[in-house]
Amino acid sequence: MGLNVVLYDTTLRDGSQGTGIAFSLADKIDIARRLDGFDFDYVEGGWPGSNPKDEDFFDALKTAPLRRARLTAFGSTRHAGARAELDANLNALVAAGTPAVAIFAKAWDFQVQVVLRTTLEENLEMVRDSVGYLKKGGREVILDAEHFFDGYRANHEYAIAVLAAAAEAGADWLALCDTNGGTLPGAIAEAVAGVVARFSVPVGIHAHNDGELAVANSLAAVAAGARQVQGTVNGYGERIGNANLCSVLPNLVLKEGVVCAAGEHLAELTGLSRAIEAMARVVPNPRLAYVGAAAFAHKGGVHVHAVAADPRTYEHVDPASVGNERKVLVSELSGRRSIVERARSLGFDLDYDSPVATEVMRRIKELEREGFQFEDALGSFALLVHRCTPSYRPPFEPLAYQIETHKSATDEGSHSLASATVAVGGEVLRGEAAGGGPVDALEKAVRRALIPAYPHLDRVDLVDFSAYIARVREGPRGNVAVRITASAPGSQPWTTVGSASDLLHAAWIALTDSLELAVLKRAGVTEAIGMPPTTGGDSRRESCTDPPADHGR
Ligand SMILES: [Zn+2]
Repeated sequence: MGLNVVLYDTTLRDGSQGTGIAFSLADKIDIARRLDGFDFDYVEGGWPGSNPKDEDFFDALKTAPLRRARLTAFGSTRHAGARAELDANLNALVAAGTPAVAIFAKAWDFQVQVVLRTTLEENLEMVRDSVGYLKKGGREVILDAEHFFDGYRANHEYAIAVLAAAAEAGADWLALCDTNGGTLPGAIAEAVAGVVARFSVPVGIHAHNDGELAVANSLAAVAAGARQVQGTVNGYGERIGNANLCSVLPNLVLKEGVVCAAGEHLAELTGLSRAIEAMARVVPNPRLAYVGAAAFAHKGGVHVHAVAADPRTYEHVDPASVGNERKVLVSELSGRRSIVERARSLGFDLDYDSPVATEVMRRIKELEREGFQFEDALGSFALLVHRCTPSYRPPFEPLAYQIETHKSATDEGSHSLASATVAVGGEVLRGEAAGGGPVDALEKAVRRALIPAYPHLDRVDLVDFSAYIARVREGPRGNVAVRITASAPGSQPWTTVGSASDLLHAAWIALTDSLELAVLKRAGVTEAIGMPPTTGGDSRRESCTDPPADHGR
């Protein structure tokens, strides 16, 4: 039977103090329910004494409480020279009506004197008085000993005296905070072991990541006897952030055999991370351990070969155990094996030694030199494999475009007009459109040209567009690359890439490829990267792209 550790999530409080992160009231309620559904033991919801939004949040959860997690309100000890029962902050904590409250207290004599500007004895009294008041109110009390590890180093006896004051007043947890995030794991372990030996009250760890050690420090604390780990989803928080619970949890469960209620949900961890990422509106970080898009991505030919034989050769855990997936990246660095594996994962029946595989390899090398990147543009990769297959008949042929953009002296913005010509079968089709910008006009024009032949293209949405200077190894200056992500009802989004010496031509390549894929997906030719095949198309022409015999499935 493994050790039991409880997880204390502070995404909604410490996490929301991270740069660029702001949650609306509705977001906060939604996140609290997700964290509860994930069986984190404590969900710290906010600081009711500090802002009305947090007070509204606690009010909302009074009428519809969490299922299992202990909702926790956060605040500070009473002010110096005041009385707990008259302290507005403590009374806001009581009014929040949560089963648990966390209050922070200064545990470093330097902070008491410089920030609180009170005596060391009064600070102890503030801890005793505040904890006692909240206990009288029937709350579970977590004392967050702020700057505990700095205090422990500077004035060991005083830091311990702060914990003793809380313990005597009935605190349920002594949470030791590495508030400045600069302590190393050895010092954390030593201090936690000292506290665990001295007190019968259970100990928690609250680590910040300033030395990139918050997760390591949390694990060191658990090994030294801590039984509660505080942290945030994706490690959001002040400055560099807090201990990332998405790393703490799998490390504890998979590596240390620790028992956590949230451990039951380990296979949903990547989903949780991505959901919170989306709600925080931050750019996804592919390098997050366990849950990032790159966590199980293999690129080098040797690695790909070995992983195909046995994933344990280059993976520390099974990606499925944390709800993530293995990825084989496609690039000129990859060997033929990775390209064949990738193509097969997309549903192509490709032989390792086939001339098609050779041609795909050759084209990837050539195109990457021109600035195309296929690693995260699987749509373009799938098209490339099709185009290297002799039996492939493209559903249309992009022929020409014309774009005009102008801004007049009296106008604030610009106006763009575009026309596009494509060939479908033997027929030349043309579309014209005005747009908010040249790319927008071009996109509308080419789609307008194609819609008579492929009416469903009307329902394709461009969900993301980015342009950047292509990474090219040689040459005096790079091409411009454009990446487009598109989606359609009932389909996973797909991404295509274009690269050319000018932005609009790069956009034309990525756009026409994106629409070609939309037609193929609809016809069921390229299933694995999106749209499920339809039964009986709504246009005669849509079935003109019969799957080539050599990749029928
Ligand atoms: Zn903190």
